[in-house]
Amino acid sequence: MSQRAESSMNAPAGRRIHKVVIAGGGTAGWMAAASLAKLLGKTLDIVLVESDEIGTVGVGEATIPTLLTLHQLLKVKEQDFVKAVQGTFKLGISFENWRDVGENYMHAFSSFALTGKDSWAAGFQHFWLKGVKMGLSAEFGEYCNEWAAAKHNRFAVLPNHGLNYAYHLDASLYAKFLRGIAEEHGARRQEGRIEEVCADAESGFITGLRLQSGALIEGDFFIDCTGFRGLLIGQTLGVDYEDWRHWLPCDRAVALQTESVGALIPYTRAIAREAGWQWRIPLQHRVGNGIVFSSRHWSDDDATRCLLENVQGGHLTEPRVIRFAAGARRLQWHRNCVAMGLSSGFIEPLESTSIHLIQQSIIRLMQMFPYDGVRQPFVDEFNKQMAFEIDNVRDFIILHYHVTNREDTPFWRMCREMDVPDSLKHRIELFKQGGGAFRVVPLELFGESSWIQVMLGQGVTPEQYHPIVNMMSDDELEKFLTGIHEAVRKMVGQLPEHQRFIDYYCKAVAS
Ligand code: FAD
Repeated sequence: MSQRAESSMNAPAGRRIHKVVIAGGGTAGWMAAASLAKLLGKTLDIVLVESDEIGTVGVGEATIPTLLTLHQLLKVKEQDFVKAVQGTFKLGISFENWRDVGENYMHAFSSFALTGKDSWAAGFQHFWLKGVKMGLSAEFGEYCNEWAAAKHNRFAVLPNHGLNYAYHLDASLYAKFLRGIAEEHGARRQEGRIEEVCADAESGFITGLRLQSGALIEGDFFIDCTGFRGLLIGQTLGVDYEDWRHWLPCDRAVALQTESVGALIPYTRAIAREAGWQWRIPLQHRVGNGIVFSSRHWSDDDATRCLLENVQGGHLTEPRVIRFAAGARRLQWHRNCVAMGLSSGFIEPLESTSIHLIQQSIIRLMQMFPYDGVRQPFVDEFNKQMAFEIDNVRDFIILHYHVTNREDTPFWRMCREMDVPDSLKHRIELFKQGGGAFRVVPLELFGESSWIQVMLGQGVTPEQYHPIVNMMSDDELEKFLTGIHEAVRKMVGQLPEHQRFIDYYCKAVAS
C-alpha cells in the first residue's frame, strides 16, 4: 500500500497525548521546544533529547520577516534576542551574477501593495512598466523603502512596519537562546545519543527512544528534529523522501566563518559562481560564508578553492563540507511523529526559507494538536498544507536558477535548459505575457512583490502592461512615479547607518 493511501485511512485516535519527546536540539528542536513549552507548556510534559557528541549542522543564519511573528508569540524582547545571537538586520538578498555575470539585483522584503502604490486592478509593476516604455522609470527597487535602505546601508526599527525586515543570527547562539525560553517554561533536556527508536508492533506508533546509556525515553508524541538523519520519520517510520535534485542541482555546501571587515550591510549576499552560489551573512562578531554547489560540476576542492579566493577577513574556522539532497518528505506528519527542520526536507538555503518552514510546522502542529489522540483528518490536513507551502517555495527557488542568460559554464547551461514544474512554467508565462503576479492563497509564502522582483531581476520582461494604466495621463504617471521615488529617498535619507543603529539599539558584548 502506498504511503499516501495509508495516510488517508482512518487511523485509530490512539491514546491521549501528554508527553511530547523532541529528538534533536538544533534550531528545529529548540524552536519546537520553546514554542510548545511557552504556548502549550502547562498542558504537556516536554522532553528534548540531544547529543553534544553529534552536534548540529551549524549553519542557517539568515531569516525572513515571518520570524518576527513567532517572536511576538514567544514574547521575545527584540533587543535581548539580537544581542544574544550577535544579530544584525536583514532587508533582503542581493543577487549578484545570477542573470548574467556582472548583473545584480536585490530581492527586498517589500510590499508594494501595502504602500498605496497599487490600483485595485493592476499592481505597481504595470505603472512602472509603462514608465519604462516612456523613459520615466528609475530602477524598480528605487520605489521600495527596504531596497533603498539596503542599498544605502541604512536601517532603523520603525513604527507600523515602516521597514519590513528579518535578522541574521548565529545559529548556535540562537539554539542556546531558545533553550533558555524552553527550560524557563518547563521543558527538560536529556543528553544522550539515540541508539534505537522503539515502535509498537501493531500500530507502528513510536513508543520511546533508547539511548546509548540504556535509558528509555518514553512518550506519547514525537517530533523528529534529528537533522538530515531523519531517525524517526525516515529510518523508523520509512516515510519516503521526494528527491528534487533534477530541479535543484546543488547538493553540497562548504562553509567557513571569517572575521568582520568593512561596513555591516543590512542584507545577505548571494553571489552566483561557476557551479553554484556563495553566501555572505554579516553578524556582529563575524561573517558566515559558504558556497552551495553541484557535485556533478564541481569537486569539494573546486568549491573550497573558490570560497577561499572570495572571502575577506581572517578565517575563524576550517572550511567544512555539508552534503544534502534537495527534496522533502511528502508526509511530514505520520502516525504519532511530526518531522521538523532538515529531517522533514531541505529545499536549499537560497531564500532563507528553512527556519520559516520549521516555524510553520510548529504553528500548524499547535493549531491541530492531538490532545485526545491522533486523528487522521488532522494529519492529512497538516500534510496537505505543508506540501502546498513547500511546493510554492520550491518553485520560487527554481526560478532563480532556471531563468538566466548565463551560458558560460555547463552548470548554468544545464539550469537554463532543464525542465521545470508546470506550476512554475505557468507563473513565468503570466508575468512574461502580461506582467501578472498573483498570490492565490495565503498559504503561499512568496507574494506578488517577491515574484516580480525576482522575475525582473532574472530578466523576464513583460510584453505588455495592464491597459488600466492608460487611464492616467502621461503627466500624472510621471508625477506618480516621481512622488513615490522622492518619498522613498526622503525616508531613507532620515535613517541612520545600520552599524550606528545596532550600536545604539542592540550592541552585543564582544565574544
Ligand atoms: P541539526 O542542526 O542538524 O540538528 C540535529 C539535532 O539532532 C542535533 O542536536 C543532533 O545532535 C541531534 N541528533 C541527531 N542524531 C542524533 C542521535 N542519534 N541521538 C541524539 N541526538 C541526535 N535555513 C535558513 O532558514 N536560513 C539559512 O540561511 C540557511 N542556510 C543553510 C545553509 C546550509 C548550507 C544548510 C545545509 C542549511 C541551511 N539552512 C538555512 C537550514 C538550517 O540550517 C536548518 O533548517 C536548521 O539549522 C535546522 O536544522 P535541524 O535542527 O533540523 O538539524
